[in-house]
Amino acid sequence: MAGKLALLPPFFLSPNFPFLSPHAFVFFKFTTSSSLAIQTLSFSWFKMADVFEDETEQTVSLNEYLDEVEDQELEADLVLGGDEGKECTYVKGYMKRQAIFSCLTCTPDGNAGVCTACSLSCHDGHEIIELWTKRKFKCDCGNSKFGEFFCKLLVSKDVENEENSYNHNFKGKYCTCGRPYPDPDAEEQVEMIQCCICEDWFHEEHLGLGNELKIPRDEDGEPLYEDLICHICSPLFSFLNLYPKSIHATNNPQNTTTPSKEKAIETTPTPSGSSTNPEKGKDTAEKSGTCVVGVDLLSTEFGQSQSESQAMFLTKNWREVLCGCEKCLGFYEKKGISYLVDKEDSIAEYERMAKEKRDEKIQQQEGAELSFLSNLGHVEKMEILSGIADMKDEIRSFLQSFDASKPITSDDIHKVFDNLKKRRRMD
Ligand SMILES: [Zn+2]
Ligand SMILES: [Zn+2]
Ligand SMILES: [Zn+2]
Ligand SMILES: [Zn+2]
Ligand SMILES: [Zn+2]
Ligand SMILES: [Zn+2]
Repeated sequence: MAGKLALLPPFFLSPNFPFLSPHAFVFFKFTTSSSLAIQTLSFSWFKMADVFEDETEQTVSLNEYLDEVEDQELEADLVLGGDEGKECTYVKGYMKRQAIFSCLTCTPDGNAGVCTACSLSCHDGHEIIELWTKRKFKCDCGNSKFGEFFCKLLVSKDVENEENSYNHNFKGKYCTCGRPYPDPDAEEQVEMIQCCICEDWFHEEHLGLGNELKIPRDEDGEPLYEDLICHICSPLFSFLNLYPKSIHATNNPQNTTTPSKEKAIETTPTPSGSSTNPEKGKDTAEKSGTCVVGVDLLSTEFGQSQSESQAMFLTKNWREVLCGCEKCLGFYEKKGISYLVDKEDSIAEYERMAKEKRDEKIQQQEGAELSFLSNLGHVEKMEILSGIADMKDEIRSFLQSFDASKPITSDDIHKVFDNLKKRRRMD
């Protein structure tokens, strides 16, 4: 999946992690009933009040607000990979991939990174940069790079994590132009694209694309590629030219073989989806042990620096095409790119696992709410249900008196809760 660099929700770095429960919104549809839902609902409404308290311009309608919160929640969950931010990930060693943050308050040189839990517990209120996800990283919080500062979650750590690598993103700089994101001097914040090798982020115009190579996108501007290998990393990947052209994404995927018609007939026909070829390649390598590319990459010039280098855009599942024969694996190893043949290294897989964890969490919460309710005595049940009924009433009458296309104000929200309090007193 082509990553996008965007700021996480404003409440992301708040002690109220992990965000609002999606149940708040289920409850809005009046489909569930439990006191847990009341808590979440009140919490989310108070949050909403906070949001509007800070803003002088109130330009969000209720529906827009709910949609936005749901989107942000999902996005945050995907970046965090289902990490709930409670424990320092140091104990897990060099994780294949995790969300990493740099704290400029503690390590202004940008030579350290901390995990999600540490960013929340140990560096709350500090100047923190989100680094999206990084591969093979171990939390640095409180190690020798932090001077007198100790990690609140896990004190005992090695002095240094020697296998961690730090690029200029840790200093808050991106791309070959070294600008921050968001860029205070830019008129418009343009999206950057992450290189799947060096993990730096690039502006389109700084990828050295030239006239003939454009970022493969469809008519709606959606990316037609899965991964980018930037022009700085690409010399090492000249061996990819030994693979079928179909692993390279183009602007017109239907016509991948048009440049040379005769050749296209000779070689295997390239399906437009490009996902069947990989399977074939893998099978061949695994079954017969023969090399898919038929060249000993280590003994040739592949991976040597070339004068001219171009960024590469690769299609979905391109990693699955990569030859897994002994010689090729040796080449990846020597060049430090063995992670490419590890499925769990890819952002797509990371996000898939995050989604799975998220769904599991939601199901567990639903289960907990149900069993909570069914274990209550009759009186308690009635009390809770009447509380919910009150809340429903109040919100329903609020919604009825309210034009959903209009902006909602903090006064509106406070009124709902004031009315609820009055009701309770009358009881
Ligand atoms: Zn940590
Ligand atoms: Zn800090
Ligand atoms: Zn810490
Ligand atoms: Zn740039
Ligand atoms: Zn790169
Ligand atoms: Zn091979």
